Amino acid sequence: MKIRCQNCYRVLDKNEEYCKSCGAHSEQMRKAMATGNYGGAPLDRFKMGALLFLILAFFGNGIIMVTLAVIKKDSSTDLFKYSYSLLFSSILTLCSIIIVHHKDLIDFLWNGNKKQFSGCLLLGLMSVVIVSLLSLLSKYTSVIPNIFSDYLHSGYARFFSGKSTNASFILLSLISVAVVEEIVFRRLLIDAIDDSTMLSDSMVILVGGLVGTIADFAWMMSVETVVTSLIINLVMTGIYANSNRSLGLNVFLRILIIVIQFLIFYV
Ligand SMILES: [Zn+2]
Repeated sequence: MKIRCQNCYRVLDKNEEYCKSCGAHSEQMRKAMATGNYGGAPLDRFKMGALLFLILAFFGNGIIMVTLAVIKKDSSTDLFKYSYSLLFSSILTLCSIIIVHHKDLIDFLWNGNKKQFSGCLLLGLMSVVIVSLLSLLSKYTSVIPNIFSDYLHSGYARFFSGKSTNASFILLSLISVAVVEEIVFRRLLIDAIDDSTMLSDSMVILVGGLVGTIADFAWMMSVETVVTSLIINLVMTGIYANSNRSLGLNVFLRILIIVIQFLIFYV
């Protein structure tokens, strides 16, 4: 596994505790030298994460949806099926991913420097404003599936009770989906691409952003969110690649995006 200098982002050689280029000390390399553990193969870790995503998120969602339709044949609306299958599949996937990959998430919060933080925060907040405006602009550039925003906007939406779903379940589902995507398609995927290919940083961001968008579409099955999903995935991948592998800011921004949707549509 590649260990990078926290300061200048150069890939360090094995046992290069002090960066030969800028002189900064690498805590990660010190730990690796002390424990002899230079990390497992990122590609194998991504394959495991992708498999969990495929089985639990993608197929799981479909299976739960069909099951709900069969069980509640007469009273099952689209909102009911969509909402509950996403709720179950997202919580199931999130718990499994955290159990399997908890070791890969130890230093997830922030590993970059102050300059990277302000740059990433600025870029992130700009993307939050852009996708929020797009969601107001048209039904084809939504941030959350129209079936959810229509429900929130209907006047019947409640946080603690509801016939077909309720707003708390939607909030919980959307946040779980976002956190799963950050773990699998940021940390595991980008680390794997970076470690096993010779792609340039901008190509890594492009490929990572596209794969994240396709995965999001496969799970959410909402055509109307593809445009904003692409913007979000490209920006989040860019932040991840330019923050020395941090997920904290991404998770914060993604929750902020969802909360703003609730502020826009919940009446
Ligand atoms: Zn350096």
